[in-house]
Amino acid sequence: MPLRIILVGPPGVGKGTQAALVEEALGTKQLSSGVVFRSEIEAETDLGQLAKSYIERGELVPNGVTIQMMVKRLRTDEVRKKGFILDGFPRTVRQAEALTEELAKEGITLDGVLSLEVDDGVVVERLSGRLGCTKCGEIYHSVNKPPSREGYCDKCNSPLIVREDDKPETIRERLRVFHENTKPVIDYYESLGLLKRIDASRDPQDVFSEIKLKLGAI
Ligand code: AMP
Repeated sequence: MPLRIILVGPPGVGKGTQAALVEEALGTKQLSSGVVFRSEIEAETDLGQLAKSYIERGELVPNGVTIQMMVKRLRTDEVRKKGFILDGFPRTVRQAEALTEELAKEGITLDGVLSLEVDDGVVVERLSGRLGCTKCGEIYHSVNKPPSREGYCDKCNSPLIVREDDKPETIRERLRVFHENTKPVIDYYESLGLLKRIDASRDPQDVFSEIKLKLGAI
């Protein structure tokens, strides 16, 4: 049976890193709303234009377009076959309820929701030094995981950049938005009995081992 899981947590907690590890190990399709938005911006689509202004300010893109965009991706044959690991969606209770309705229509139940948890201080520290590859998306950190050649990706040699929304003022706004809008999503899944909490302050490989343990127990 394909897995259907959600990763929830503050910005910079490592949702993207862990979702990619799960996809690689288990073949579950990673669906990351942030990555989808950034590729829409890159391709200069109408949705990209709309999303850009919100993302640059660290605010949430409105629920309507976000839900539509993610539902479209959930309905693909690939996702039906491989299952999914959602990363960055849902971020509001409205989105979570829309997802519940969509899955009910498809006759699908969620296997679990993994909440990756760290203190706000760790988020600020991690995002402040974050660098991403412009081509393959590999993530580095100026202190914790520097590339071998400064400014360039170890994997594909392309230039590394700091995301526009990883600037200090925007990081603070994204954290505020997380506490206000996404914390209630965690409560929502807890009340449905689907939530598993994971200490994400550790090394990514240790976090991944715990995720596998928790998935094994699902
Ligand atoms: P991320 O890469 O997950 O940190 O997302 C980057 C930005 O994209 C967020 O700060 C939001 O502006 C926007 N975004 C991503 N996912 C969502 C979502 N589910 N709902 C609204 N906005 C989102």
